[in-house]
Amino acid sequence: MNLPKYSVGIGDRFAHQGKAQLAAFVRAKKLGVDVTPVWNKSNREHNIVHSEPASVRAEADAAVRTLNWKDPYFVDADHIGLQTVDRFITASDFFTIDVADFIGKPADDDALAPFVKEYARYAGALRVAGIEGALQVTPQQIEAIGRKYLHAVHEAGKVYRHIEAAKGPGAFVPEISMDETDQPQTPLELLFILGAIASEKIPVRTIAPKFTGRFNKGVDYVGDVTQFEREFNDDLAVIAFAVKEFGLPADLKLSVHSGSDKFSIYPAIRRALRRTGAGLHLKTAGTTWLEELIGLALAGGEGLHIAKDVYTQALARFDELCAPYATVIDIDKSKLPKIAEVADWSGEQYAATLRHDPANPHYNPQFRQLLHVGFKVAAQMGERYTNALNEYEPTIATNVTQNLFDRHLKRIFLDD
Ligand SMILES: [Zn+2]
Repeated sequence: MNLPKYSVGIGDRFAHQGKAQLAAFVRAKKLGVDVTPVWNKSNREHNIVHSEPASVRAEADAAVRTLNWKDPYFVDADHIGLQTVDRFITASDFFTIDVADFIGKPADDDALAPFVKEYARYAGALRVAGIEGALQVTPQQIEAIGRKYLHAVHEAGKVYRHIEAAKGPGAFVPEISMDETDQPQTPLELLFILGAIASEKIPVRTIAPKFTGRFNKGVDYVGDVTQFEREFNDDLAVIAFAVKEFGLPADLKLSVHSGSDKFSIYPAIRRALRRTGAGLHLKTAGTTWLEELIGLALAGGEGLHIAKDVYTQALARFDELCAPYATVIDIDKSKLPKIAEVADWSGEQYAATLRHDPANPHYNPQFRQLLHVGFKVAAQMGERYTNALNEYEPTIATNVTQNLFDRHLKRIFLDD
């Protein structure tokens, strides 16, 4: 099963925005660019919202039918491992195999020695097309990479074979993710990780490394943009090299996780795709739910009430809501608006504070990040929340589609 060249992972916590999301891809297609939608939801999200993977499949199928989408689309079991994958087997045809927790666990000596031996041929000055100069590779580095990553790649192999046994070979798209960790992987590490993946015989279609810099949920990139660009370009070069050298699938591509809202690195990504012709999987960070809040606020009435209540409760439950996301948010509590202040806001002011428009003086990334992790509050509102999603659907849908199209698809994939 092939994943087309450009794909975007979209999350939808409450499973009401599938059509509005797909409408953004329809718009891109009308402008001549094919981008494949991949509906994704992690086990953590399912547990918080109390949903099942089958609901994501039902939502995706319904959106595709309604908008008469004839192109490929996928349903991603997002960040699964051996412990969590089983509930996703039937509903999903894309699996993000997350082995970040296994990085740094010691590799067996039985596995390490052949790895070091196999890749010794790359020691010295290694020329990779697309990388300026040469990569300097020592046998010690190869061994260190094996020690750090072999165990994780073996784990990915176990998960892959588990899914393959259930679904059959070629019946799904495997992604391997290593992004939820502190240390970025260097292009050199990525090269030998890909070698190990090839030895595990995983026909990997996308690989999600941890890039340099911070990829906080729902807000812009924080880090050195020049360094990111160099690393991203080198990663693309390494992937092209690994495909040829190790016989990996020719359509293997990079996956950028928490990739929504990273406006300051989009020009670098866009340039790299143009220059190399490489594909990309961009996984957004569940921010569609923030567009629901924006739409509710703008709708006024009970919609605005709910949007304000979600903030009030999220602020009161700050520690509890932030804890599971501690490594992927950075909230300066002192810059969060007071409850009394928010109570007086118009829907427009709420929307302007939340919407990711850095040029708007009201925009507040602290407010946005807290609400991003605050979906548990809305989930616990139950029907009060989902009824409002139905009642105010047109306003919400407009915001969902515009966010995906204007601020994401257009900036990365479409011509100016
Ligand atoms: Zn991720």
